[in-house]
Formats: sequence, structure tokens, C-alpha cells
Amino acid sequence: MKTLYFRIVIQTILIMVLASVIAFLISNVYYHKVQKHNNGEKISKVANEIVSLYEENPDQDIDAYLNHIAGLHYQMYLFNEQGEGTLYGEPFRETNLDRDTISGVLNGNTYQGIANYNNGLFITGFFEDALINSIGVPMTVNGEKHALFVRPNIELQFGEFRFFLAVLLVLTLLLSFLFVIINTRFIVKPITKLTEATKRIADGDYSSELNVSRSDEIGDLAQHFSKMTQSIQRLDDMRQEFVSNVSHEIQSPLASIQGFSQTLQSEELTKEQRNQYLSIIEKESRRMSSLSKQLLMLASLDKVDDPLQRSKFDLAQQIRQVLFMLEWNWREKDMVIEMDLPSTVISADEKLLNQVWTNLITNSIKYSESGSSINIRIKSIGSTVEVMIADTGIGIPEEDLPYILDRFYKVDKVRNRSETGSGLGLSITKKTVDLHGGTIEVQSELGKGTTFYIRLPLM
Ligand code: ADP
Repeated sequence: MKTLYFRIVIQTILIMVLASVIAFLISNVYYHKVQKHNNGEKISKVANEIVSLYEENPDQDIDAYLNHIAGLHYQMYLFNEQGEGTLYGEPFRETNLDRDTISGVLNGNTYQGIANYNNGLFITGFFEDALINSIGVPMTVNGEKHALFVRPNIELQFGEFRFFLAVLLVLTLLLSFLFVIINTRFIVKPITKLTEATKRIADGDYSSELNVSRSDEIGDLAQHFSKMTQSIQRLDDMRQEFVSNVSHEIQSPLASIQGFSQTLQSEELTKEQRNQYLSIIEKESRRMSSLSKQLLMLASLDKVDDPLQRSKFDLAQQIRQVLFMLEWNWREKDMVIEMDLPSTVISADEKLLNQVWTNLITNSIKYSESGSSINIRIKSIGSTVEVMIADTGIGIPEEDLPYILDRFYKVDKVRNRSETGSGLGLSITKKTVDLHGGTIEVQSELGKGTTFYIRLPLM
């Protein structure tokens, strides 16, 4: 398998080699286009200087003079009219020069060999040690015409510098390769860690921690990955808890139905006992039926993106109807209902809101002693409406208040055993209010009562 590590190392090294080659080609072209001419002019000046220095003092020995100049790191060839040449300084690697060039210079022309020198792409002309890559100037020696060809001895002038440059280049490349190999390890390591973590999560293990403490994109990725893992774990926990809650809620009424139907089969029961057991069975099956309805409702609210079927209706009238429907329940407990319900038209899902008021008012009745009261009020605040439902019932302990809207949360499991509650009513209420873009607030004091504030946008 080609690993990411391998890929990055190879690609970076290839890029570096390619960049070096391109840089070399570009600088070579630059030499040919710009440097070559400047260089030619410089050497021309030197050649003319050599000639004029000699011609100012023509009595001196030409060989001694030119050998002296050669000692300053120049290579020279001096041709006489017969075309015979004498070398001064280090020999040229190539000495071929055509006769026409020599006679041109003998006749007084200057030969611009450096500026006109053409060579291959990969050899910098500057370093080419050939006689044609030189400057030719006319010179009079002992009254005779001569042609002097000059070029600097690059080997001697820049020998150490060339070596220094080569070492610098090779070391730069080698060290870069080494650092790329080491650095890539650090880049790739967190990705490898992430991959391993993904595999573990795929196998259902959410526990592993990702120790990536980087502040770049990979660090960001690792952080988001950790967050995602946590929320998947939370979801998984919730799912498991939900399933176990549902099973528990189904199991307990089923067990009691089973138990009482077995008892009912015995002959020695009085009619009174028989009726009592039958009513328990009826109550438990009703509880199961309401549970399954609530579960279906939650599922449908969870599933669809926008499950609301909005219509315009009067909120006050709706709440009055709910109170009317529940009249038997609050009358049975001798409860007093106080109302302040001014007509308020709202655009919302009528059926779902009906369920909200039914849940809240049923709870207020269910969790209140006989003879207590319920206060219901509608208040419009700007473009929202606030419905307050306050009871003077048993209240909710402070430590339970934050969880009251969670699915299956019941304040006191023992207290609720006799009731038909499943702990789903308030979570359905919250979900409905959320879907309408509203808010729900609970205030409660143990023994004093509970107040719910539902705020909904009017439109
Ligand atoms: P349930 O079906 O059990 O009533 P809910 O979701 O409607 O479930 O309520 C969750 C819990 O909140 C209830 O078990 C109850 O303990 C508490 N609760 C809800 N409303 C009131 C209230 N008005 N007064 C006191 N406790 C309440």
C-alpha cells in the first residue's frame, strides 16, 4: 500500500529536484541573455588594458610581460601574422579557432567570443574553457601586427568558490531530503491516529481519547472528530437508555396484567375482588396504550423536518375547550380554575398545541391535592404570546427541575407508580414548542406549586 507518508516524501523530493533543474535552466538562460554581454564587455576592457599597457612601453619583452599577466589568472593566446600562436597561462581545454577570426583581429577588429558564445542548456557558458570563448584584440609587437586572445582562468579565479557552491547545493538538497523525511512523520502521525480512532469507533468503542494538541487544520479536524465521537456516544447512550426505558414501561403494566389475570382464574374470588382486579387490568392496558401513542407521536415529531400543519385559531378558545374536556378530572378533585383568557389568534399546529395544553393542565391536576387551584393566563407580548399555567400543587424538587423536560424523566418513581404517567408528556410538550420556535420555562417550589410559561410566536 502506498502510504500518505511515502507519497508526501517522494512528491516533495521530486518537487525539490525538479525545482533545482528548472532553477538551473532559468539561471543559465539569464546568463545568456544578460550576464554574457556584461561579462564580454568586462573582459574586453581587460584585454584593451593589457594591450595599451604594453604599447605604452613597447621595449619590454613580450613573453615576460604576458606571462606576468597570466600570473593574474588569465589565459592568453598571441598569434602573429603567419598564424602561429603562443600560449600564456594554463592551456585551454579546446583551442580550435578558425583562420578568418584570427585574420579579422590581425586586421584591427575586436573578436567578441564571450558575448557570442553559444552552448548547450546544461553548461553555463561562463565556465566553458575554450579559445573561441574569449576576447580577441589587435596588438602591435615589435612593429608587427598580432592578435591577442584573452579569457579569465575561471578554474583559478573561482575554483574554491565553485567547490563551495557545489557543496552548498548538495548539502542543502541532502539536508532538505532528511528534514522532509522527518517532518512528514510529524504531519502524518495525527492522521494515522485519526484513522485508528475511526476504526475503533466503527467497532463500537467510543472510549479512546485522541491526543492531538495541534492548532492547525489537523488539530481542528481532531478536535471536531473528538466532539463528533462524544455526540455519537451520547446518542448511543440515549438510544440504549430509551430502549431500556421503553421496555421497562411496557414490562411493568404487562407484569401486573399477567398477575391479575392469573388471579382472576381462581374460583374463590368475590365479585368485588374480581371487579377491582379487572379495573386494574383496564387501567394498566390504558397506560400501555397511552404510552404507545406518545411514543408514536415523539417518533413522528422527531422524524419529519417540518411536521407542523399550521392554521389560524383562537388560543383562548382552545384552552377553554381543553378545560372543558378535563372538567370531570378537576371537578373530582374539587379544584378551582382561575382564568384570564383574552381572545388571541395564533398561526400554529392546532392538534399539537391542543396536546400541549392537555399535558400541562392534566399534570397540574394530577400533581395537586384536592381543593387546590389552577391559574391560567394568556398575555400578548409584542409578536409573541405567553401562556402561564400555575398550580398550587406538590411542586418539583429543585434538583429535578433541570431534567423535567427529558424523555422518561419522572420526579419520584415511587410517587408515580399509582399514576398513569410515563414521563413522556413534558418531552412531547417541549418538542412541540421547539418546533413552533417558542420557549418553555418552569418555576417550581416544593409543596407550594409549579408554574409553566410557554412563549410562542403569534405568526
Ligand atoms: P408524566 O406522564 O409522568 O406526568 P411528564 O413528562 O408530563 O410525565 O412529567 C414529568 C414529571 O414531571 C412527572 O413525573 C412529574 O413528577 C413532574 N411534573 C410535571 N408537571 C408537574 C406539576 N404541575 N407539578 C408537579 N410535578 C410535575
